[in-house]
Amino acid sequence: MPPLPLTAVYQSCEGCFKDDTQSPLRRCSKCLSIAYCSAASQKTDWSRHKSLCKAIASVFEDPLYRAQFVWDDSPSTDLQTNDELWRTIVWFEMETIQKQLKRPLSARERNMFSRQPKCFGCSRTDRIIRFDNSPLCSALKSCPDCRLAFFCSEDHWNAVKHLHTQPLSAAENNVGLSHCEMNQQLRMDLRFQYSDPEARRFLEWAPKRTKTRWERLGSEQVAGGKREGQGKKTCWEEAFSQDLEQVIQGARAMLSLRAASKGLSMPMTILYALQNLNGENESWTKKDTIVVHILGASIKTEVPKKQLFEEILHRLPEVKTLKLILVGPEVDVSDSKPVDMETCPDCGQKGRKWIHQHHIMLYHDFVSRQSTRFEKPDLAIAFNTGASDHGDSWKETMKVLVERKIPSVFTSYNESEALTESRMLREAGATLLAQNQLGPCRNPWGAISLTPEPFQFIGWYGANMWLAGGFKN
Ligand SMILES: [Zn+2]
Ligand SMILES: [Zn+2]
Ligand SMILES: [Zn+2]
Ligand SMILES: [Zn+2]
Ligand SMILES: [Zn+2]
Repeated sequence: MPPLPLTAVYQSCEGCFKDDTQSPLRRCSKCLSIAYCSAASQKTDWSRHKSLCKAIASVFEDPLYRAQFVWDDSPSTDLQTNDELWRTIVWFEMETIQKQLKRPLSARERNMFSRQPKCFGCSRTDRIIRFDNSPLCSALKSCPDCRLAFFCSEDHWNAVKHLHTQPLSAAENNVGLSHCEMNQQLRMDLRFQYSDPEARRFLEWAPKRTKTRWERLGSEQVAGGKREGQGKKTCWEEAFSQDLEQVIQGARAMLSLRAASKGLSMPMTILYALQNLNGENESWTKKDTIVVHILGASIKTEVPKKQLFEEILHRLPEVKTLKLILVGPEVDVSDSKPVDMETCPDCGQKGRKWIHQHHIMLYHDFVSRQSTRFEKPDLAIAFNTGASDHGDSWKETMKVLVERKIPSVFTSYNESEALTESRMLREAGATLLAQNQLGPCRNPWGAISLTPEPFQFIGWYGANMWLAGGFKN
């Protein structure tokens, strides 16, 4: 089982992942970084934690570390300044620890630094408070409602509390919720996804049913039962609540939908992209064969969830064949020849076909190698590319998509990536569709179960959470 994204805030046991509502936890007294539910859990984890624990303790006792930062006693309410200070602190800590350990930190260890609790107003962590004998307090306290926002003193909390409790913008969260409510949602999501035995299957769930006709996809994203969205259904609920009610009941149905949205956002974003690229014209829903190219596909993300793409067939009852071509340096070779995927009995009976093919290469190389055999797809889509970090090869790909007039859509994990990628697309010559259709904007079919940004006090990311842009020519 992967470690809880919350372990670093020592609210779940590092040894067995129980959270602090299931069992009281005690923190490692040497490094204050992690917590355990029992001596037994601590003992099993010690061989893994030992060297890091010692490195942390020695670095923080070093006066050189403490001389790095001047701690302001008055709180700041400017989130951007606070984010910048936090980033500086975390990078400095991680670099110092890496030097000490003479090895790079693992992703899990990096989380221990970037996700450690810190005062919302001044960025003090528990370690800083302890080693600096802060005059303000002896330990961080947490918001009584979400227990995922922290403060060093009542003074600081009173100064910044409003930032935590006021409704956030759509860019930052699921519409209408405050940071505190988002945190409470996160807690419920994690508890469900990690400790409810039924939950695992919903992380890779798609309903086994065929719609009788194509129904246009909504773009309504309101917070269920909250504020202005009172009683209104989100597009996710419209699309899946009925299917879910047949397999899981009550409050767990909504939690399952939130879990399932992480995977289902791929087929649903494909359908939404096709719908918006084709406008009023719905002839694409009646085509014999639909071909989708998935760019930058990877064995970590798209490949293990490929079963979910049958949802495309299930929402397009008139289409006979769905062909998915996954192209990217990180796909596997197992399907380098076209593979007939096993459909559900219903599709099988109707003789519908669902074909997958993988090509391990960059997309622009794929296009040039295919040369005259290149078959223009109905859609080329790139999920969560992080194109802004691997600029040059993505720029090549974007150029080819524009030159060949391939209908294309790019998605991103968050707003800042979407804005960068949208600029890259325009620089490659793309004429983007209206911003409210395919970006840069929030994707109504992005995952609704989100993860806090490690380097921001307020900020979230999620699978396909943003659309960077879409174009036809
Ligand atoms: Zn434990
Ligand atoms: Zn420790
Ligand atoms: Zn503070
Ligand atoms: Zn709170
Ligand atoms: Zn089927």
